[in-house]
Amino acid sequence: MRFIDTAFLVPPADFGEMAAQAEADGEENIGNHSNVWQCCKESLKGASFDKCYYCEMKDIRSDGAVDHYRPKSKYKWAAFRIDNFRFACTLCNSRRKDRNTGEIGGKGAGFPLFDGCQMATCADEICNERPLLLDPCNAADPDALDYRADGVAVPASDDNANPQKVRAETSIAAYHLNHSDLQEERRKAAIKIQEKVNEVEANLTRFVGGDLAAQPAYTSAVRDLKRFLDQRAELSAFSRRVLQSYKNKPFVETILAAA
Ligand SMILES: [Zn+2]
Repeated sequence: MRFIDTAFLVPPADFGEMAAQAEADGEENIGNHSNVWQCCKESLKGASFDKCYYCEMKDIRSDGAVDHYRPKSKYKWAAFRIDNFRFACTLCNSRRKDRNTGEIGGKGAGFPLFDGCQMATCADEICNERPLLLDPCNAADPDALDYRADGVAVPASDDNANPQKVRAETSIAAYHLNHSDLQEERRKAAIKIQEKVNEVEANLTRFVGGDLAAQPAYTSAVRDLKRFLDQRAELSAFSRRVLQSYKNKPFVETILAAA
């Protein structure tokens, strides 16, 4: 997960009018107006470079849907608000069973809150609501997640008193962030990164040692490593974490600092 800045979202020109008409049709008819959120799909996808807001994958986890962060079944007032829309893959968005582990995950219509917290009944009450689910459109929330080298998503904090820890745990389960397919994709990315780090190191050593012929291979391997960190790349938050494990190598530190 990485921060998706919705300030740059550009909805379709007629979105405001469509949303107003849908809202005027009454809460009981929300389901008849899916065109309101569907018409935003391309804008939402564009903001994340076509990646699911929750897992940062493009294809393996389905064709993608417009998720309501606050479920429209419980938060009817938020059904047509673009700031409540997230682009999500099926496995993050819908309740599904992992065929390899038998574990059930996916957000569905769930939206747990901290104990004793009141559900927001209008947009003005959002600031007083304390959701347990991390929100990729909240700048601080993606930092609550961390990843082990073997591809498993974990909370960044191990402090039980830190509310972001329980939010991370809840979100990993709710968004199915440890689905076996996703862990496998992370493991594959970690291997590729390791190979590229070795490639940079070997060619840099040759180049610095006077073998000028090593420069093109050194340069292209550095480019490939930088591409893993690019916001357009799948699993870029995980890739950053993997690369950080090599930061004792000065060239890795330089690449991380520049990204
Ligand atoms: Zn996803």
